[in-house]
Amino acid sequence: MSISYQSTRGGEKNLSASMAILKGLADNGGLFMPDAIPELDVPVEKLADMSYQEVAYEVMKLFLTDFTEEELKYCITHAYDSKFDTEEIAPLVKADGAYYLELFHGSTIAFKDMALSILPYLMTTSAKKNHVENEIVILTATSGDTGKAAMAGFADVPGTRIIVFYPKGGVSRIQELQMVTQKGGNTAVVAIHGNFDDAQTGVKKIFGDREFGKKLDEKGFQLSSANSINIGRLVPQVVYYVYAYVKLVKNGEIKNGESINITVPTGNFGNILAAYFAKQMGIPVKTLICASNDNKVLYDFFRTGVYDRNREFILTSSPSMDILISSNLERLIYLSAGCDARKNQSLMAKLSEEGAYEVTDAMREEMGDFIGGYADEKANAEGIKELYDQTGYVIDTHTGVASRVYRDYVKETGDHTPTVIASTASPFKFAHSVMEAIFGDQSGKDEFAIIDELSRVANVPVPAAVEEIRHAQIRHKRECDAETMENMVAEILEL
Ligand SMILES: *Cc1c(COP(=O)(O)O)cnc(C)c1O
Repeated sequence: MSISYQSTRGGEKNLSASMAILKGLADNGGLFMPDAIPELDVPVEKLADMSYQEVAYEVMKLFLTDFTEEELKYCITHAYDSKFDTEEIAPLVKADGAYYLELFHGSTIAFKDMALSILPYLMTTSAKKNHVENEIVILTATSGDTGKAAMAGFADVPGTRIIVFYPKGGVSRIQELQMVTQKGGNTAVVAIHGNFDDAQTGVKKIFGDREFGKKLDEKGFQLSSANSINIGRLVPQVVYYVYAYVKLVKNGEIKNGESINITVPTGNFGNILAAYFAKQMGIPVKTLICASNDNKVLYDFFRTGVYDRNREFILTSSPSMDILISSNLERLIYLSAGCDARKNQSLMAKLSEEGAYEVTDAMREEMGDFIGGYADEKANAEGIKELYDQTGYVIDTHTGVASRVYRDYVKETGDHTPTVIASTASPFKFAHSVMEAIFGDQSGKDEFAIIDELSRVANVPVPAAVEEIRHAQIRHKRECDAETMENMVAEILEL
């Protein structure tokens, strides 16, 4: 069956997957959605014997129906190779009764690698298929992890450039070092004076500026997005939830057909939406637990039906979740409105004009698979310490939020359904906060001394991604205001 893509805000429809990947965002600011979520056509017993790459093919072929088998397998084998430090790609670790799905074994040690190691291949293949001659310029706003993972994927890929905007002071020291030391002649990094939402809004504005688009086209450029709004990121993320389920069956942890719950530390709502897609494809998932940090817009939304971003933006120790506008939620809104683009469009207009909207009871019922929870800074730190003290397993501050929310959920509900927790970053990426949670104040200590200590207590070698930046040279020093991001793009591309 062939799947086509349409904008969640109406207008554009019947796009092929490759066109949707190339465009990233629809002209009217909408996100691309498949006209149906396909069902898995291979039984669980068969998937259970497959490698990660083979499962990836079985899942992705159903969404990217205009890719040939050869094209898609080429993308998959080049993405999921020795860049990952384990053949399993996404291993499951059982600790304190839950299954931590470690999504941080790629080159930048956060879960963004799961999709961003394949996106450049999907994008360049899409460009070829559609006879695109322009150079593709990837514009990305990052709360810390996307930017580095996107640059690692796109660095020196012919026919592409990549420009990353991150909030100055809003990312961890390691995240910042990872970005500003990025190599590759086609990469640029800019620190903006503002928070992640400012960066994301600025990028969306540039995409929406038709005049600027024309100017770019004249100079042989066209924009695309590596943010999680791109369907080329969402689809590869569905893979690991299918993979996790079939491996739990294979390892005898659950019976085939038995339901699981999934807990995801959430920011832009991309990762948890992928879990929802896996459910729609036929994986037995009962409850999707959406875990937030102090920026608990989503928790409030699932509790009340009101999405309200009018609140203080709080910087936390889980910066990749410091987000008040969860872009991918729009896809769930659209689905729960029965794919009514006008209804979705009017809610999104309210969000941009008033900063808030309310969904109907019928829509809330459609979202009944989701529940929200949150962990504040103290609860998160306590949870990380408790898990370490009980099991010796060290998790990062994002996974910590999910872990704590999950344990609170079990206490409250007594629901002991086997649960997969998405483990979204290596603790080494947030070593300072992690060590502080377990051993108390770390102020005054050198970042790399803390990392070496973490390696000792967790009994895990320092990942190559961290060793790499220990002595690397700083290559990117650009800064700008959120209002002047477009000028910065023009300057970088020498328009
Ligand atoms: C991006 C990120 C998240 C949030 O994922 P979303 O798909 O934006 O909800 C959580 N944890 C880490 C470590 C991340 O990098």
